[in-house]
Amino acid sequence: MREQTFAERLNETMTARSLKQADLIRIAGERGTKLGKSQVSQYANGKTVPRSDVLRILSDILEVRAEWLIDGTEPVSEEREIEPPLHREKEGHAENREKDGAMGAIRKSTKLDNVLYDVRGPVVEEAERMEQAGATILKLNIGNPAPFDFRAPDEMIYDMGRQLADCEGYSSAKGLFSARKAIMQYAQLKHIEGVTIEDVYTGNGVSELINLSLLALLDNGDEVLVPSPDYPLWTACVTLAGGTPVHYVSDEQAEWYPDMDDIRKKITSRTKALVVINPNNPTGSLYPPAVLQELIDIAREHDLIIFSDEIYDRVVMDGLEHVSIASMAPDLFCVTFSGLSKSHMVAGYRIGWMILSGNKAKAHDYILGINMLCNMRMCSNVPAQSIVQTALGGHQSVQGYVVPGGRVYEQREFVYKALNDIPGVTAVKPKAGFYIFPKLDVKKFNITDDEQFALDLLHEKKILVVHGGGFNWKKPDHFRVVFLPRIEVLGEAMESLADFLAHYRQ
Ligand code: PLP
Repeated sequence: MREQTFAERLNETMTARSLKQADLIRIAGERGTKLGKSQVSQYANGKTVPRSDVLRILSDILEVRAEWLIDGTEPVSEEREIEPPLHREKEGHAENREKDGAMGAIRKSTKLDNVLYDVRGPVVEEAERMEQAGATILKLNIGNPAPFDFRAPDEMIYDMGRQLADCEGYSSAKGLFSARKAIMQYAQLKHIEGVTIEDVYTGNGVSELINLSLLALLDNGDEVLVPSPDYPLWTACVTLAGGTPVHYVSDEQAEWYPDMDDIRKKITSRTKALVVINPNNPTGSLYPPAVLQELIDIAREHDLIIFSDEIYDRVVMDGLEHVSIASMAPDLFCVTFSGLSKSHMVAGYRIGWMILSGNKAKAHDYILGINMLCNMRMCSNVPAQSIVQTALGGHQSVQGYVVPGGRVYEQREFVYKALNDIPGVTAVKPKAGFYIFPKLDVKKFNITDDEQFALDLLHEKKILVVHGGGFNWKKPDHFRVVFLPRIEVLGEAMESLADFLAHYRQ
């Protein structure tokens, strides 16, 4: 007979105890251990098994032996005496490692314990499992333009081909001169003052540079203000670097602009930096100068570094103009991030950059840290660097997508109307990017778990979306839709969603 898995034992015991995943999280929290939603869902789905300290917390809550839970060696004991949690808290990491070794399991680092990245998380894994079993899934979960027939401009592909033979070696750690010069000139066009070629760093996408810039900055316990909802890599990288992400809310009633009072309330003596995602993913909000000014005032008052993620700065609609926050704060140390993944539809080429501006003298030591990490990764993808100059100069094909008649614009119009037409769904119109972040009437649908909503939609309609929690949004009332597919496909998806919500009650 096939042996039961850990996940099966966990689920059975939870059922026997009438406990849901949310109960485990709550009780663990009450006992001083923070468990993440995705973390617990991964245990229940059999994607991973807990480390020994988490295993002990689970076994305590479920009143079963840890050994039985992990490998089935011991019977369930209803009478088992539960040791006081304090005793366990004293157990050192090394001791846990020893026990892990005895069990033969190779565990992931504890550094990853609170790191969540649900844009590619458990719901996506379930979608992959369904695909392997033959289902066709419509993926509205990730802002990857190429699978939806968005092509790189021909000139970029041609130019990369021509230069490929010259791209076999490493470049300098920060990047090719031609690429950095073009990025420097781009900074000039965005009115960011005083940027020299030495202030420009290329990366394997903005993603690598987000990670690198935080790793170089943060000591354990340093706090970084990150928006909620956010592009979750920011929260994940702050955590991975040992920092504490402190979320400030963006206000749906006010075009999803940051709530300044909330930011002010959350500043402490340990706050080092303020993350601004403008244009925003997942909300599609574009911050006007007045909003940027308020953010600058706060940063200036509290001596905060500004990290500004502007990867969607060229995917702006309705004739609006994107303003770089760094251009309005020449006295503050700012790091501005952008790249070609979205504006040139080449997310797979992996090319992004960051620009340092403002009071660089003050940041001298931090810059040495950034340089060290840059040197350690040798350089970013050189063929992709070789086309930055081509990409940033001359005609910008993305312009054609974001005006009436263009695909991004028309798809935005369509999805915005279609979502707002569904009873129980409301959405603010995005001004930029590829995403919309609709709100669900949780009372109407009785929704208490947004990840469950995403899973239920996936199972019933084979549509993959990311739940709001995946963007560090604390209430279970939002989800994100990527509007990259063509209108015909979006049309079918919206019909299916409406059909699903016509009867859905959690
Ligand atoms: N920042 C934001 C706000 C994003 O939405 C994304 C990707 O979706 C990234 C950064 C990562 O971009 P890249 O492909 O340059 O790593």
